[in-house]
Amino acid sequence: SIVVTGATGHLGRHVVEQLLEKVPAEQITAVVRDEAKVADFAARGVRIAVADYNAPETFDDLFAAGDKVLLISGSEFDKGRVQQHTVVIEAAKAAGVALLAYTSAPNSLTAALADDHRGTEKVLLASGLPYSLLRNGWYHENYTENLAPALEHGAVVQAAGDGRVSSASRADYAAAAVAVLTGEGHENTAYELGGDEAWSFAEYAAELSRQTGQEIVYSPVSVEAYSGILAGAGLPGPFVAILAGVDASIEKGELVVATGDLSRLTGRPTTPLADAIAAAVKG
Ligand code: NDP
Repeated sequence: SIVVTGATGHLGRHVVEQLLEKVPAEQITAVVRDEAKVADFAARGVRIAVADYNAPETFDDLFAAGDKVLLISGSEFDKGRVQQHTVVIEAAKAAGVALLAYTSAPNSLTAALADDHRGTEKVLLASGLPYSLLRNGWYHENYTENLAPALEHGAVVQAAGDGRVSSASRADYAAAAVAVLTGEGHENTAYELGGDEAWSFAEYAAELSRQTGQEIVYSPVSVEAYSGILAGAGLPGPFVAILAGVDASIEKGELVVATGDLSRLTGRPTTPLADAIAAAVKG
């Protein structure tokens, strides 16, 4: 089987959808916490397994020898993600899976956000399992799914200076994962995945202006000011620190990924940022 954890998430849903185009549904297992969220997949013949990274016993006997597994990194930043991911890796090891692919972060990223990914990569390499590190760059959707503040204030406010980001759509990263899960020869690989084109926030604001007909400018602020704005908007402290750290990394160029690995794996150019903006503007 091809087994996908985090299958209820944004990325996981794209992966399962794209797998359904390539392999019979009964060869796909979606690992979820809440079965109700994947009734549509179940109806299409996808096998559903219920498990939680916080409950190791739920992964007992979930994997079988020869499975190809996609471990999608968790979203509970405050719950010890390295330990959570270790639960999955140990269960996969016990079963003798053929490949464990893990959605990591670019090697260039030094922001605190990357610590859990580096920690998980270490555990995975030490496990001796055949692995593939899908070091995903930034999603377009991190910005385009949150257009309201920019439209309201006529300003994109970030603490990233003139830094550039080579983002791609979640569907692009999902396609890379599907290529690795359904293809051959991806054992013990690390892919640095990012969009074909890097953009600056000034360019992003200009494209928003063009597509909305409203004047939207980039307003670069300090990391301190940005943190204050996020806290003022009600974001919890640890999350503010993570986002501010990411902007500092962007200013240093750490979210530019110029390897071409993503379009090479998927066999097509990555989705332009302008397309993601268009989809978001259309609502
Ligand atoms: P989502 O938040 O949409 O999905 C997270 C998935 O992880 C959900 O399926 C969620 O299940 C599952 N999950 C969380 N905690 C647990 C747990 N304890 N046990 C089992 N499953 C769990 O994120 P995306 O799909 O957009 O992105 C995938 C991952 O990539 C994120 O979780 C995060 O690690 C990382 N990420 C990457 C970004 C980037 O730009 N590259 C940006 C943001 C995140 P449930 O539906 O039950 O909550």
